Amino acid sequence: MVQKGQIGVTTDNIFPIIKKFLYSDHEIFLREIVSNAVDASQKMKTLSDVGDFKGELGDISIHVSVDKKKKTLTVSDRGIGMTAEEVDKYINQIALSSANDFLDKYKENANAIIGHFGLGFYSSFMVSQKVEIITKSYKEDAKAVKWSCDGTPEFTMEEVEKEDRGTEIILYIDDENKEFLEKNKIESLLKKYCRFLAVPIVFGKKQEWKDGNYVDTEEDNIINDTNPLWRQKPAGLKEEDYLNFYRELYPFSLNDEPMFWIHLNVDYPFHLTGILYFPKIKNNLDLQRNKIQLYSNQVFVTDSVEGIVPEFLTLLHGVIDSPDIPLNVSRSYLQSDQNVKKISNHITKKVADKLEELFKKERSKYEEKWDSLKLFIEYGMLSDEKFCDRALKFALVKNMESRYFTSEEYKTLTESNQTDKNGELIYLYATDRQEQYTYIEAAKEKGYDVLLMDGQLDTHWMGLMEQKSEKTRFVRVDSDTIEHIIEKEETAKVELTDKQKENMTEAVKSQLPTIEKTEFNVDFKALGENARPIQVTRDEFSRRMKEMAAMQQQMAFYGEMPDTYQIVLNVEHPLIKTLIDESENKEKDELIAQVSSDNRLKQLVDLALLSNGMLKGEALSNFVKRSFEMV
Ligand code: ADP
Repeated sequence: MVQKGQIGVTTDNIFPIIKKFLYSDHEIFLREIVSNAVDASQKMKTLSDVGDFKGELGDISIHVSVDKKKKTLTVSDRGIGMTAEEVDKYINQIALSSANDFLDKYKENANAIIGHFGLGFYSSFMVSQKVEIITKSYKEDAKAVKWSCDGTPEFTMEEVEKEDRGTEIILYIDDENKEFLEKNKIESLLKKYCRFLAVPIVFGKKQEWKDGNYVDTEEDNIINDTNPLWRQKPAGLKEEDYLNFYRELYPFSLNDEPMFWIHLNVDYPFHLTGILYFPKIKNNLDLQRNKIQLYSNQVFVTDSVEGIVPEFLTLLHGVIDSPDIPLNVSRSYLQSDQNVKKISNHITKKVADKLEELFKKERSKYEEKWDSLKLFIEYGMLSDEKFCDRALKFALVKNMESRYFTSEEYKTLTESNQTDKNGELIYLYATDRQEQYTYIEAAKEKGYDVLLMDGQLDTHWMGLMEQKSEKTRFVRVDSDTIEHIIEKEETAKVELTDKQKENMTEAVKSQLPTIEKTEFNVDFKALGENARPIQVTRDEFSRRMKEMAAMQQQMAFYGEMPDTYQIVLNVEHPLIKTLIDESENKEKDELIAQVSSDNRLKQLVDLALLSNGMLKGEALSNFVKRSFEMV
């Protein structure tokens, strides 16, 4: 007898809603149907394991197949099946409460809608004009039933013959969704969503190349790995297992082995398993994100985990599996969810534990990896306060001799020698060994240590360290003359009249080449007769502002300002002394005519620019010509 009825929903018709709102994520219907089959199969296995089912369990693989001629996609399982009453209860009665409000709010997010309503099965109507369920319960004497619905609230249900227990879901794919009848499409979707499901999923036969064609073999084509590494006990696993699993996850990054990994395994107060890999992090933050896959009980959910793990951890690779992460909410809600917060804190803590352990137990290995780890750790310290507190113990700095220090150690090394007369500890650094060579050497001559700070986030990180430690400053070696960067005692006073300074400033400025977006100030210092006569420096503060501006939009205004450099004249050097004397009582025109006709000042200015890498193009060519003539 054919029974007819109306699907119990409170809105008039659920189907237009399903089609319309879930449009963007069409493909997840397959995940929903296959996970239902997995659930039913696992329940069957449990019943058999505990002895509530006495019959033969047999093979419980799930079979997926497409029939292009009939335009059907079929998923069949040997799970617990459903009786007619169960179909009525689980399929016909959908509780839709305040549906419209909810749909409006989450129309971009099919996961949310499906999760909220328990609409997993009904998502099949996103791609089908008709869906049939043929199911037979495992229960003794159960009769098989066939349920059929063509996308209106009316369904039919009738008794049918079915030999085996379990459920067959047959989707009659509609014309707009023909792509889901393509074998390749279905195979790639199964690989995406079902790759680690716990019951074997069979999609046709394995193929082999024979006589110029691919032909089916006898062997089932099993899509999934039913016992993925993250679900296994860490104790029994070897390094090779983790590396193999990494290759399985990222078959396309062959040359890039991860540096190390963390196996997550929590039962209480939330469930979390997973493996996080530390890749070698290169100097580009954005390219590396979104390599973590989120699963819920081995069902793939998404590979964008923002909001679930702290931002800096999105640079890691691997898998997180937790049924406690709510999927039926928006991203912004996720961040305020207590479970998600706990999970996120837990992951951060585990990452810090791992790094600290490596640092403590295998310092030399850790140092070898530091250059590839640094960006990640600095990013973590800048964006996550808790992580920062932990990382202070294992974040390193590297000096020009490639020796590594923790902040603590570096303080001990430099404290006695690099504290200035105001009690401030000055950390010297360079960003480019070649460009700043002269300045690095000058600092070393004084017995000072110089750090290499050439990373993408170093400027920000130094700012953070200055906030964290009192009376400590980072200063780049070329930001002033070394005597003035670390002032030990009162430096000698410059004994010049205003007029002398004014004239000399005029004279120097008249000899400077014009460099785009660059300004020069002239400064006078008494550095002793043996120090260099002239040098170019760049103020630490303004330079850092510009560097930060380059990375942050809110500071773009700084980026537009010209770069300012100081031309520092050493008034105690004999050459500079002579030039000051000669310029002393001259009127402006006369002065400029004089310095322009004789090459001494020009040559000095060019040499200063040259040693700073700032003499280029025409100015450089003129300098070379002039130098030849002088020789
Ligand atoms: P959910 O899986 O979130 O409960 P669904 O709409 O996907 O929601 O499924 C509703 C119910 O229908 C399931 O809870 C289950 O009881 C039943 N069901 C669906 N698919 C199967 C299947 N292949 N075998 C047995 N029961 C099933």
